[in-house]
Amino acid sequence: MRFVSNLFQSLSISARVMLSTASAVIILLLWIILFSVDRQEKTIMAQNERTMTMMVTNVISALHTIMKAGYANIAHDFVTDIRSDKNIIDFKILRSNGQEAFLDNKSIEAVNRRLGEQEFLARDSEETRQVLDPKDPDLLWVNTNLRLLPRYLKGEDNRDLLIYLAPVMNGEKCYHCHGSDQELRGVVQLTTSLTQAELDIAQTRFQASIIASVAVLILLLLLYLMIRYTLVRPLGHVRDAMEMVTGGRLDMTIKVPGRDEISEIAKSFNMMIFKLRETYEGLRREQDKLSTIILGALDGIVVTDGQQRVVLVNPSAERILGKSVKQIIDGGWETIIDDPSYMNAVLNRRGREIPDLVVYNNRAIKIHGATLYDDQKSPIGSSFMFRDVTEEKKLEDKLRLHAITDVLTQVYNRRFVDESLIKEVSRAQRYNHFFGFILFDVDHFKKFNDSYGHDQGDRVLQAIGRAMKEHFRTVDFPCRFGGEEFCVLLPDTSVTGTFVVAERFRRRVENMVVDGLKVTVSIGIVAMPACEVKNPEELIKKADDALYEAKRNGRNQVCSATPVMDEELPEDMVDILEKQASRLGQ
Ligand code: GH3
Ligand code: MG
Ligand code: MG
Repeated sequence: MRFVSNLFQSLSISARVMLSTASAVIILLLWIILFSVDRQEKTIMAQNERTMTMMVTNVISALHTIMKAGYANIAHDFVTDIRSDKNIIDFKILRSNGQEAFLDNKSIEAVNRRLGEQEFLARDSEETRQVLDPKDPDLLWVNTNLRLLPRYLKGEDNRDLLIYLAPVMNGEKCYHCHGSDQELRGVVQLTTSLTQAELDIAQTRFQASIIASVAVLILLLLLYLMIRYTLVRPLGHVRDAMEMVTGGRLDMTIKVPGRDEISEIAKSFNMMIFKLRETYEGLRREQDKLSTIILGALDGIVVTDGQQRVVLVNPSAERILGKSVKQIIDGGWETIIDDPSYMNAVLNRRGREIPDLVVYNNRAIKIHGATLYDDQKSPIGSSFMFRDVTEEKKLEDKLRLHAITDVLTQVYNRRFVDESLIKEVSRAQRYNHFFGFILFDVDHFKKFNDSYGHDQGDRVLQAIGRAMKEHFRTVDFPCRFGGEEFCVLLPDTSVTGTFVVAERFRRRVENMVVDGLKVTVSIGIVAMPACEVKNPEELIKKADDALYEAKRNGRNQVCSATPVMDEELPEDMVDILEKQASRLGQ
């Protein structure tokens, strides 16, 4: 059953409809034909039976006539004649007990006895032939009912036979010879062949099967044409159109021929395609917009697919990274800036503090990475944005420099001093590093201003700034402390080192000529860890004290908050300390 069901489902719709309808039609047709053939057969048999009955009746009537005419002796010849008819296979006249008559002398003797004369001559030879059993129910039926009985039996050669048992009645004219005791004189058994009827039936069946075959063929043809033109073709159009749509053709429409279900499907299909086309065009417009945005974006964009292969690189990415699309695609996303670990950290943003920006291709670049997910939250790739912040960074640095630079002298300003001292003092404390601090003030500057004007004073201050920038190492920080006071931060510098550099600077200023004018400076120095200071304020205080000391000692000199090692000093500076010491001693 399952096999049949599977087989049925494997067929096309048209084949299924054809098979079902054809089966139903053929069954109906066969039933009609069988029914009509059966009726025809019955009619033929009934016709045959009527004809035969008529013939038997006539034969019996003739026999009666012969017998009544007193020609019993020719009855046997009559029987023999009858047998020669091609439709009659056998003809026997039986006594009511089933024995064949006219073969012995019993009846002749009985008649002669009755008549008292030798009316009929006895037969030379006698024979007794029991044709039917005396108890044969059909024979008994005829004996009782005195009516004709047709019987359908099989012959010895298995032929269908129609056998009549017909009563031969004892009439008035028979009484003379046979008396009136018996109502029945005998029974006639006439055996006829059904060959002709069977031939007719066979012919009828043959004709019916021909008609049935032609009818089935015509019906199948009509069915096929109907299915082909009303089902297969329209469905084929729908299927072809769907295949073309699947292949990307959205300009398809199907003809809507009528109002049947397939036309409805075609209508729905056309509507679906229309909507699909609208959606597709909308999506394409959006995609065009997106492409324009991506291609025109100032930020570099690189996108990967589910297998992490680079599938999109915009022109800005090429420009910022200084690589061609091919190089980026071939190298893969991890080596975009030749630092896979950084790129992985950018993408995952887990477990690692990463710098906000990287320098690559001589540019400061900020990179943002994100994993892309679909509706089911499954990763489908990743996107990276590269922002070139070189100019911003330069501007930021410029602004920062501006914020910590003194406008007049172009050295660092007081804000920078305060910020840097916090860092440098704590660094020197924590690691026991050397750190030197120089604080100096222009001598009698009030008077200078008064004598040469404020602008001239400014030019002197600017000249001092330039001198500071030239004089100190690049790792040192020359600053304007305020007014005509300046300071210098000297990382990793000892007391003696600080003293030497301060003394050289003092001499430099002493020898400096600005617009034909000269100034001097008084300097106080502090150096860690020789001088113990807890905080920047204490450092400044000690430096200021040393500076005050220098002023008090006559200006244009360097004073240290802590003793300076003589042996480490250059020769030309040793006597300076000695002079100071002797003065202090006084
Ligand atoms: P001392 O040797 O004791 O330092 O004497 P001094 O005259 O320099 O005394 P003081 O330090 O008190 O004087 C500071 C003067 O510096 C006062 C002010 O006119 C001048 N000054 C401060 N800032 C500027 C500036 O930006 N430009 C000019 N031209 N002068 C300034
Ligand atoms: Mg001053
Ligand atoms: Mg001064």
